[in-house]
Amino acid sequence: MPNSYTPLVAPSPEHLGRFDHITHLPSRLQFEDYFSWRRDSAVDQPGTLVLVTLADARHYNEVLRALGMAFAENFVRAGARLLTSVLPPSTPIFHVSVLSFAFTIEQTCLDAHPNIATTIARSFSDAIDVDAIPIKTRVGVGLLPINAVRSAAESLRAALTAAQDSRGTETGISFYNHGSDAAHLRAFRILADLPAAIAQPGQLTLNFQPRIQMQTGQCKGAEALLRWTHPELGPISPAEFIPLVEQTALIAPLTDWVMATAMTTNRALLELGHSLRMSINASPVNLSEPGFDEMLLASCSAHRLEPHHVELEFTEGTLATNANCAIQQLARLRAAGVDVALDDFGSGYSNLSYLDRLPADVLKIDQSFVRPLREPGDDDFLLRQILLLAKGMGFRVCAEGIETRHAYDLLRDLGCDEAQGYYMARPMPEAEFRAWLTAHS
Ligand code: C2E
Ligand code: MG
Ligand code: MG
Repeated sequence: MPNSYTPLVAPSPEHLGRFDHITHLPSRLQFEDYFSWRRDSAVDQPGTLVLVTLADARHYNEVLRALGMAFAENFVRAGARLLTSVLPPSTPIFHVSVLSFAFTIEQTCLDAHPNIATTIARSFSDAIDVDAIPIKTRVGVGLLPINAVRSAAESLRAALTAAQDSRGTETGISFYNHGSDAAHLRAFRILADLPAAIAQPGQLTLNFQPRIQMQTGQCKGAEALLRWTHPELGPISPAEFIPLVEQTALIAPLTDWVMATAMTTNRALLELGHSLRMSINASPVNLSEPGFDEMLLASCSAHRLEPHHVELEFTEGTLATNANCAIQQLARLRAAGVDVALDDFGSGYSNLSYLDRLPADVLKIDQSFVRPLREPGDDDFLLRQILLLAKGMGFRVCAEGIETRHAYDLLRDLGCDEAQGYYMARPMPEAEFRAWLTAHS
């Protein structure tokens, strides 16, 4: 056996990367040249770009994990062969990304799906045989009218969004839709612009919403709620951007920012004589990473606050990812004196067996059970049962989304401990919250 390995030298630069090494089809680089030529003739010969994606990335990763890389490559080859077999023989097909193939057709009929697109969607509806294993895949077929101004790269991107959209349709085919693409682009913009918003002061702020003790009517705590005013997009709701950020590593620095800012405010309020327990929302990913508990306690002492000045809210989703790590951290935080609250209780779909090993002090009943209570006679059956269950298991209970006097009185009479909602106070910027505290103490 030779005692060293010499990799093959790359082919001449003009051929490098111009063919896909798995399918031997022309690659995205060649597509760019081809498409420039095709686009220039679009005025005389209108046509449509078709992008076919063999599977979604998650499914492909599952195939990779279960069956290995060689099998996954055979899957891509089998997909390419099937696609080639249903297209007219002279059609140039380009392998433009791991799972995607592109070609153009002369038809442009925007109302009806071109026959060829329907044929592809049908051919892929059966399982594909790969090494004698039938693989069921959800192919996506995206269609984009060729347009004289859209570049090759931009056309591929737009056709890919159409292919992704097609997975949710009955036919498995989608034309490019500006509306859904605009949503993708907005999501991308939000994630791209967040690091600057975290780094520079001014865009991110916290609002504070009072938590009221129901028996006394006193405010002993508040929830810190994030607000983002983007310089061009304007105010963006956390309900929109948090779920996006949670898919990325940016959730760690974002939660750090919230933690530090909430503690700074809480310290300032303490110096004004308001001793509050400030609730901070943690994302599932935060608690799945070891060391989050230590960081929170360190931040607490750096701001010269006691652990009982802080509450950490988490959601059921936390128990779905790395539950052991999360449960251990929550237990350590509780042992140190930080309150732990399960947020949005009742809105998830998990079974209830986890409740008796839940390291939590407080259950926050989801707003969906509380907001509908507007007047006597409104259906409160589920709310009563949830309250009974939570109290019976020894949790303190906080109801969120109290919007009416009726809801407040009912929950207090049923023994609910704490309340949060527009009926008492909306989330407020810091200065307004200070004034509110002074007026209500
Ligand atoms: P959440 O943690 O359940 O926060 C309560 C949400 O309900 C807040 O919405 C609050 O403004 C709203 N709310 C409170 N009382 C009422 C009411 O009586 N009626 C109605 N209609 N709404 C009420 P917001 O501030 O828009 O936050 C939405 C969600 O975004 C939060 O739900 C939380 O899941 C997430 N979020 C907000 N700030 C943060 C943060 O700093 N970190 C993380 N990870 N998530 C955050
Ligand atoms: Mg919350
Ligand atoms: Mg909530």
